[in-house]
Amino acid sequence: MNERLLKAIDDRRDDVVALTADLIRFPTINPPGEAYRPCAEYLGARLKKSGFETEFIRAEGTPGDTDRYPRVNVVARFDGRSPGACVHFNSHIDVVEAGDGWTVDPFAGVVRDGKVYGRGACDMKGGLAASVIAAEAFMEVFPDFPGAIEISGTVDEESGGFGGVAHLARLGYFSKPRVDHVIIPEPLNKDRICLGHRGVWWAEIETRGEIAHGSMPFLGDNAVRHMGAVLQAFEDELFPALDRKMTRMPVVPEGARRSTMNINSIHGGQTEDFRPGLPSPNVPDSCRLTIDRRFLLEEDLGTVKGEVTGILDRLKRERKKFDYEIRDLMEVLPLMTERDAPVVKAVAQGIMAVFDREPDYVISPGTYDQKHIARIGHIYDCIAYGPGILDLAHRPDEWVGISDMIESAKVMAIGLNVLLRGTAAG
Ligand SMILES: [Zn+2]
Repeated sequence: MNERLLKAIDDRRDDVVALTADLIRFPTINPPGEAYRPCAEYLGARLKKSGFETEFIRAEGTPGDTDRYPRVNVVARFDGRSPGACVHFNSHIDVVEAGDGWTVDPFAGVVRDGKVYGRGACDMKGGLAASVIAAEAFMEVFPDFPGAIEISGTVDEESGGFGGVAHLARLGYFSKPRVDHVIIPEPLNKDRICLGHRGVWWAEIETRGEIAHGSMPFLGDNAVRHMGAVLQAFEDELFPALDRKMTRMPVVPEGARRSTMNINSIHGGQTEDFRPGLPSPNVPDSCRLTIDRRFLLEEDLGTVKGEVTGILDRLKRERKKFDYEIRDLMEVLPLMTERDAPVVKAVAQGIMAVFDREPDYVISPGTYDQKHIARIGHIYDCIAYGPGILDLAHRPDEWVGISDMIESAKVMAIGLNVLLRGTAAG
């Protein structure tokens, strides 16, 4: 191991704490997309001081982009003395709302007992700060390194990444020859490498009926009862079938190693706006259900959809007056980077050097920005690796451990050394 590199990171302990706390103090809440511009500008200014070229890219016209809430991303690049590979660290700067139950101010950047507290501390401003000091330490110790390092702060990950990584990927920021390897410091724990995620299919199913007076329901056709038949068929056939499908993907938690489907919402009949009065007596003529189906590498999207439409089509044949419509809301294919991919092997060497053990390889139950880097940018040498503890994400009193940031920064710096200079040690 290179002692000078590790010492350069230890020397940045106060720096990584201050940087994390500063980032937390920008309340980059999404939605609506608060304080994106000042946060991106702060990160850009920091990296410019370290010698990076910086660019600010506003994703105009993407969901939520307005002059009040501009979707501003920052991309910083440092070219080494000679040509070579480019390693890109991508972090999202947006956070979810604080919610209730906090014992500290979620946007004050409180430092206490070896931890930095705040909304986004773990997911993922601590990871961003760790990647910044890893890159800066590496550049200081190896000023002649070949290749390039990029660091981006992108928006809207929590709402799908359309104004962030997806937008930049469409502009070519996540494609060869510009970028070769991508590390996303999401909070997957400091000794684990996240190789990808399950697939997603969201859809809205609508059953139709015919409105009539509630005192004579036989004159109409009740859309909610039709949806009840759909739900019953899901309970009897679909949920047990999904539960039997296991994957070879190492998804954590283990419960997510099966196919799953959540019913996100159901709406039928009159709205509840009549409250505090009484509703009028109607037979509902429409009922809408949204489903969130998470699928596995072993499944294909056509089959996944066919399992649902097969049930709906059968009901149409068998159930009197039953009709339905189905609309796709979102589709993401499952992803898994192979274990012998260069970025996986490089970060694994870092984990072995710092923790003296093999990493755990995991798959995320939900998706994150890796999907855009793969599907739009066609960069498949991509992982998520970062210091935060996954279970703390989106919760009250979210924190990131200072030692965890230091250790994961060492892993990232060793990863840089392997990918750019071809050695973990020298
Ligand atoms: Zn995140």
